[in-house]
Formats: sequence, C-alpha cells, structure tokens
Amino acid sequence: MSSSKSSRKVKRTNFATLSKGIIKAGYCASCGACVSVCPVNSIEMHNDLPKLVSTCISCGACVDACYRFQKREKQKQAAMNPNDILEIYTARTKDENIYSQAQNGGVVTTLLVHALKEGMIDGALITGQYSTLFEPKPLLINSPEGVIQGAGSKYVISNSLTKLDAIRTSHKKKAAVVGVPCHIESLTRIMQFGYLGLEHRVALKIGLFCMHSYDKNLLKQFVADKFNISPEQIIKMDIDKGKFIFITETEKYKVKLSEVDSAFYNGCHYCSDFTAEYADIAVGNIGVDAKSNVVVIRTQKGKELFDSAIEKGLLDVTMIDPQEWEAKFGLVFKLEKRKKKEVKPLPPLD
Ligand SMILES: Cc1cc2nc3c(=O)[nH]c(=O)nc-3n(C[C@H](O)[C@H](O)[C@H](O)COP(=O)(O)OP(=O)(O)OC[C@H]3O[C@@H](n4cnc5c(N)ncnc54)[C@H](O)[C@@H]3O)c2cc1C
Ligand code: SF4
Ligand code: SF4
Ligand code: SF4
Repeated sequence: MSSSKSSRKVKRTNFATLSKGIIKAGYCASCGACVSVCPVNSIEMHNDLPKLVSTCISCGACVDACYRFQKREKQKQAAMNPNDILEIYTARTKDENIYSQAQNGGVVTTLLVHALKEGMIDGALITGQYSTLFEPKPLLINSPEGVIQGAGSKYVISNSLTKLDAIRTSHKKKAAVVGVPCHIESLTRIMQFGYLGLEHRVALKIGLFCMHSYDKNLLKQFVADKFNISPEQIIKMDIDKGKFIFITETEKYKVKLSEVDSAFYNGCHYCSDFTAEYADIAVGNIGVDAKSNVVVIRTQKGKELFDSAIEKGLLDVTMIDPQEWEAKFGLVFKLEKRKKKEVKPLPPLD
C-alpha cells in the first residue's frame, strides 16, 4: 500500500524550483512570463529578475511558463516547433505620421493600427516607455493613437510579458502581442499549456529580430562615461552598419557596436533565436536601409494580415522570390546561424 502510494507521488514544482533552475543560475531572459501566470500574484520583477513577494502555493505555473526552464528539463518539454518561412518582403509604411515615429519602416505599427481599425484585433500588447528609453513600459493598448505613441525600439531588456494577464482581465478576445524572440517563445509556451486562456485570446504574435539586448544600468553608465549625456537627453537609439547610435535633439553620438558589448544583458547569452521563429510575422531591419523593414511571414494568420494591409494600400512592399532569399538576405541567414552557433547552452537539469 505505502509503496504504491509513493510510486504515484508527483513531484510538485514551485517558485523555489524556478529560482534554483533559472533565476539564481543566471539563465533568466527577464521576459516577465512567470509574473503573469502566477494565480496568487506572488511574483514581481525586481531589478529585472523575478522575486517571490508573498506566499507560493506550489501550483507550478511559473515553472511551466518559463521556456528556459522547459528547455533545461528536456523530458518535460512538450513539442514546440518553430514556424517555417512562407514569404519574405522588404517593406515600409506609407503613413507619414507612423513613419516619423517608428524605429525603421514602421511596418509593425502600421500592421497593428490596421488590425485595430479593421476589428481583426481588440488590443495590442506593446512596449512603450516610462520617462526615458532606458525604462520600457509594457502596455495593453486599444487605440491606434496609443499604438503609434508606443512605436520605436527600446534596446534594453524589457519584462513585457508581465502585462499578459491584462489580456485576460480586460476580457480581450483577439489581442496581438509584439515582442522580441524570447517574449514570443515564452508566450507560445504559455499558449501551449493553456494558461490565462491565451490560446484563445491571442490572435497574432508579431516578433522583432533581436541579436541581443542591453542591461539598463550598464547602458546608461556607458553613455554617461563615453559621451557625458543623461538618459533624458536621448530621444532615439539605433543600430546601423555596425554602429550603436544615440540620438539627442541636437546630436548623433555613434560608437562601434563592439564597444557596447560590455553592456549586454547576461540572460541574452543563452538565446539562440534571432528572427522570432515562433511568431506569425517577424520584422527586422538588418540588410535594408534604416527606414525600411525586412518582413518574414511565418504563418497563414500572419499572411492574411499582411496581405490585407497591402490591399488597403498601407505599405510599399517588394516581395522577394524564394530563389533570391539567400542572395538578398544573406546577412539575416548569416546572423541567424551565428546566433545559434555562439549561444551558451542551457545545461539539462539533473
Ligand atoms: C531589443 C531589440 C533588439 C533588436 N535587435 C535587432 C537586430 O539585431 N536586427 C534587426 O534587424 N532588428 C532588431 N530589432 C528590431 C528593430 O529595432 C525594429 O523593432 C524592427 O525593425 C521593426 O521596425 P518598425 O519600424 O516596424 O517598428 P515600429 O513600428 O517602431 O514598432 C516597434 C514595436 O516594437 C515594440 N518594442 C519596442 N521595444 C521593445 C522591446 N524591448 N521589447 C518588446 N517590444 C518592443 C514597440 O512597442 C512597437 O510596437 C531589435 C529590436 C529590439 C527591441
Ligand atoms: S503560486 Fe504557482 S506560479 Fe506563483 S510562485 Fe508559486 S508555483 Fe509559481
Ligand atoms: S525567463 Fe521569463 S519566465 Fe523564466 S524566470 Fe525569467 S522572467 Fe520568468
Ligand atoms: S537576445 Fe534573446 S533573450 Fe535577449 S532580449 Fe533578445 S530575444 Fe530576448
């Protein structure tokens, strides 16, 4: 009797499991997914790391939601296959207002505005900012104006998925989520496990290319030491032709990208996804001019939205023949391979 009881005993996981396996081990991507799925709101982000702030009821949700934990615990990992590439475009918005506020060609913002206006989505989880670009602010937005205000890349680590629970609490039925590859991978994991009802509530995942992101404090310190400028002065950051560019109202401060390596966010060293492989649409800028985008259509849902924006005449696009992908986007594929080659492996759990 007692032996059959013990053989049925299921190992329960809790915050301590996540803490030991990911957070204290230095593997956290700081995505914020674990915060959102905790049913008793016991996790908060402190200095970009999850912290237990009240009782843990050992439900295991945070452990399930953490794609990095799941990668370490390979035997528990449910199959999650990256999406293929259906089509690739170069594109740019035709909306001058969006164009003036966007990071590159404004494709992400244009698609969100279009989808909201057409009722294809009823909200968009994006990443705006608090007072400076070094303080990203996750926002669940309902209006096209709000989406436009939140345009532009924040090149520091963002706990964007802490806002996922708002999709449930505000009863969204078809939200879009914009994020870098770690956000999209965690979100996909959560949808697969069925937490927060997101498998029904998220209609679209828009991914951003991401080679790596930066630690807020280290990047602030870098610009203070190198250029003697404060975070408040910086109105845009950009990465172009091997340079990191900090833009103020009056100046452009450029520095070789490799000089900023010391400000990398530690958790990014364990990331192997450059082109948001789990997204419906992935958007980047590498290999095209600074005010255009590379757009990778990965699913039928992504294709429908993109085609509809083209039909409405919202975008200037060039579709690239698959036979020309390697020639035109050699750099994208090269960096994709490089990221997978240079990634520090996440060791399997004992
Ligand atoms: C950390 C980071 C690293 C990147 N690295 C690369 C790279 O190596 N190569 C490359 O080609 N492109 C990279 N990008 C993507 C690039 O900066 C643009 O976001 C992309 O080209 C889309 O341009 P757009 O004009 O359509 O964007 P916009 O229309 O301006 O929209 C950008 C959207 O991104 C959201 N966003 C901004 N910052 C973040 C963030 N930190 N986390 C989640 N969402 C955010 C905004 O809310 C907005 O909805 C990176 C982006 C980020 C945030
Ligand atoms: S209650 Fe569940 S989700 Fe919250 S910390 Fe504990 S195990 Fe994690
Ligand atoms: S990677 Fe994301 S889900 Fe995992 S511990 Fe860090 S913040 Fe939480
Ligand atoms: S490099 Fe990976 S872990 Fe780091 S911000 Fe980009 S997608 Fe996330």
